[in-house]
Amino acid sequence: MRKLATVRKVIDIAPIPGADAIECVTVDGWKVVAKKGEYQIGGNALYLEVDSWVPEALAPFLCKDKREFNGVSGARLRTIKLRGQISQGLLLPVPEGASEGDDLTGMLGIQKYEAPIPADLQGIMKGPFPSFVRKTNQERVQNLVAELEEWVDAGLEWEVTEKLDGSSLTAYLFQGEFGVCSRNLDLLETAGNSYWKLARDNKLEELLRATGRNLAVQGELVGPNVQGNPYGVGAPQLHVFDVYDIDQGRYLTSPERMALLDGAGLLHCPVLGTQNLAGASVASLLASAEAKSALKAGTEREGLVFKCLSADISFKAISNRFLLGEKEI
Ligand code: ATP
Ligand code: MN
Ligand code: MN
Repeated sequence: MRKLATVRKVIDIAPIPGADAIECVTVDGWKVVAKKGEYQIGGNALYLEVDSWVPEALAPFLCKDKREFNGVSGARLRTIKLRGQISQGLLLPVPEGASEGDDLTGMLGIQKYEAPIPADLQGIMKGPFPSFVRKTNQERVQNLVAELEEWVDAGLEWEVTEKLDGSSLTAYLFQGEFGVCSRNLDLLETAGNSYWKLARDNKLEELLRATGRNLAVQGELVGPNVQGNPYGVGAPQLHVFDVYDIDQGRYLTSPERMALLDGAGLLHCPVLGTQNLAGASVASLLASAEAKSALKAGTEREGLVFKCLSADISFKAISNRFLLGEKEI
């Protein structure tokens, strides 16, 4: 489960030009606007990440519009701009007895907000997401301040791809069995299920069987009723972003993935090139994430995913311009 509510050290506080009641507080790589004087540099704060569903009792001031998620009245934390300052998430005083590093997500009843799933994407569960494949997930660069410094110093090379805003699909072949999964479920093959239809249309079973290996192909499903169809596609499409080697328990590197997919006629998430992160910081990577999508002119891209060419590590930088423009769905 994502750690959405953690006790973190305040590393910086800066004034916001033209605002005298609020200031900008930094925890790790996150910038959060708070009431002036509430927090001190070097002190602790409870930080709730964006996409937290916060129960009303914790933050009644956010819940003027009554909204419910999984039966809990509350509010979703988003990226906002206050007096020209980006603010992501929410800072609260540290609860009695909690100390730095504590994860209070469960204790505080905070959930990860998820948009409702359209019917053709829901599918019927064959089982839980298989334990032999890794669930697709990328950590946010704002949570990787120390790691990023090490990676920059080490001069590692990274494949940079556009992060597409759709729904995650995994197709696996394991011990002779082919299966297709959504983000969290292994799905029964049923008529009308978009995941299975895309897997069949793209001949993923044939591709995997031809390798003679236990592998999983992972990609982003974009389509007419997925995430509001930001790319305006007429029919569902699959854009591959990873291949997982089940026997070795690791993702294939970019060159290995490209070699395996070569000639299969699959779409791939836009590859923007390879780069080392010389001079990069959280702020510079967030800035570089802001651009238009390679998939559709005029559409903001969601962000970038960086995958290391020499180690099984990866992370994402989500575009704040994208987040600020996101519609409620
Ligand atoms: P949320 O947590 O808001 O639901 P998310 O679904 O995008 O966000 P994250 O863990 O934040 O999930 O990001 C990883 C996801 O990004 C993957 O599960 C995958 O579906 C999606 N994705 C889209 N494009 C790419 C890409 N180029 N490389 C890797 N993952 C990608
Ligand atoms: Mn996410
Ligand atoms: Mn997504």
